[in-house]
Amino acid sequence: MYYFDPHIHMVSRVTDDYETLAKMGCVGMSEPAFWAGFDRGSVDGFRDYFRQLTEFEAKRASWYRVQHYTWLCINAKEAENVSLSREVIAMIPEFLDRPGVLGIGEIGLNKNTKNESIIFCEHLDLAMKTDEQILIHTPHLEDKYQGTRMILDMLCDDSRIDHSRVLVDHVEEHTIRAVLDEGFWAGMTLYPVSKCTPERAVDMIEMYGPERLLVNSAGDWGPSKPTAVPDFILAMRLRGHPESLIRRVVYENPLKFFSQSRNFHFTPPEVYQPAV
Ligand SMILES: [Zn+2]
Repeated sequence: MYYFDPHIHMVSRVTDDYETLAKMGCVGMSEPAFWAGFDRGSVDGFRDYFRQLTEFEAKRASWYRVQHYTWLCINAKEAENVSLSREVIAMIPEFLDRPGVLGIGEIGLNKNTKNESIIFCEHLDLAMKTDEQILIHTPHLEDKYQGTRMILDMLCDDSRIDHSRVLVDHVEEHTIRAVLDEGFWAGMTLYPVSKCTPERAVDMIEMYGPERLLVNSAGDWGPSKPTAVPDFILAMRLRGHPESLIRRVVYENPLKFFSQSRNFHFTPPEVYQPAV
């Protein structure tokens, strides 16, 4: 089955992973900007990272007939440096018209601090002024419930935001309902050490249905599994769900959400020919 991974950090992965993903049916992916494992020291560090995301990563993906898209921001973990964050936010528009840039993300909260909230709102303001979609990271484990609530409140307080153009990622059983009830899209992240398992994601599809729900691997430099979406496909089959429902969650839903971005020009895999 063809599928699309809406959240994966391929700059942290080797080229063999692209080959494996392509063999397993991955035909498209979107890569949010994130924390590199260390705090970057200058705005030029981010400029080079955004060049890697928009120039090289899409090319590397195309070697395996995978269509690669990306999102730009400074991650919440680096938001404590408010002055650097503001320099990065001011620089992002240089890249917003590049091919494959879908919007602002993954913004959000990490430890739910005041500075994180300030920089989150300044990203929202940039997205509204530039008419971009938004992809959101919600915090881990003990910070998740409160952080998700804070994020939803900040989103709902800004009347300019179209909720159908916002994806709130890393939802779990205790946060999914609030996200869907407000009209946002929700992403379930299949991660071996925290977040969600394939089986729990199937549970949530059974409880809430497929409307505005996505699954992703969030594969990155830590313990993670870039092939987690095929694990979900298998878990759905083993529960007896029809192929049409599985396809809706792993392929049709991502295309529907991303199609709201002016830079999303997805070619059906049957006819896709990379330019390079
Ligand atoms: Zn991520």
